[in-house]
Amino acid sequence: MRGRLAMGRAGRGCLWLAASGLAAALWVGGCRTEEPPVPQSVVTPVHEPRRVMVMTQIQARGVSDERVLAAMQKVPREEFVPEEQRPYAFDDRPLPIGEGQTISQPYIVALMTELLDLKEGEKVLEIGTGSGYQAAVLAELTPEVYTIEIVETLGKRAEETLARLGYADVRVKIGDGYKGWPEHAPFDAIIVTCAPQQVPQPLKDQLREGGRMVIPVGPQWTGQTLYVLRKKGGKVREEEVIPVRFVPMVREGGGRW
Ligand code: SAH
Repeated sequence: MRGRLAMGRAGRGCLWLAASGLAAALWVGGCRTEEPPVPQSVVTPVHEPRRVMVMTQIQARGVSDERVLAAMQKVPREEFVPEEQRPYAFDDRPLPIGEGQTISQPYIVALMTELLDLKEGEKVLEIGTGSGYQAAVLAELTPEVYTIEIVETLGKRAEETLARLGYADVRVKIGDGYKGWPEHAPFDAIIVTCAPQQVPQPLKDQLREGGRMVIPVGPQWTGQTLYVLRKKGGKVREEEVIPVRFVPMVREGGGRW
């Protein structure tokens, strides 16, 4: 990668090139004034804080799906957090996004996305839009993203942020995600980013045969577990992943699910 990057920048100065042993090896013919065309992916600057975040927090903990890592590298997490939280956008923790809610820790976003095992073209439903960040990560993997947020101000803001950053195709609904989105069911994958005490039956019902659901379940704040559910032969099998801590899934009139 370093060698390819160096080629892209080579026209700017031979001195710079001489500093890199690898680049020098590639440029044995000396400095050229006319460069061959360079693929866009090579010249697009790598966002350094995001690259470090992906390497040290996500890859280091075992997330290895290349498409997920690329999505985490690409989506501008800093744009989804409030202005005053920007300096901390790449910290290894959740951050407040207003209304008492949080954007999840980068590793948890990546892990849950990897567990969904999304293929391009599959339809995915997210419960708990929050900032819209997780929805943007999903949108890097498939064009069919649906997301539901119960707090109107958050849902509206997330919709604006997504549109501004080029994710206008993500469908945002304000409402109670417990009930899912029957008009667009069944879904190949469902990701829940707030914690109910039981897996909502409507979400199980809206999962397609062969579909996956990633969901934290348990009491408020402590003692929650992240599960992956897989529907096979009409039956839903559950697998425990890790202990987690999410905000509770709440009801429209107050109280929690
Ligand atoms: N995925 C978000 C973070 C989610 S925080 C992100 O990437 O930023 C959890 C969100 O779930 C909160 O915004 C909360 O308001 C929302 N939520 C809680 N109960 C809900 C429900 N019943 N239906 C839909 N959203 C809910």
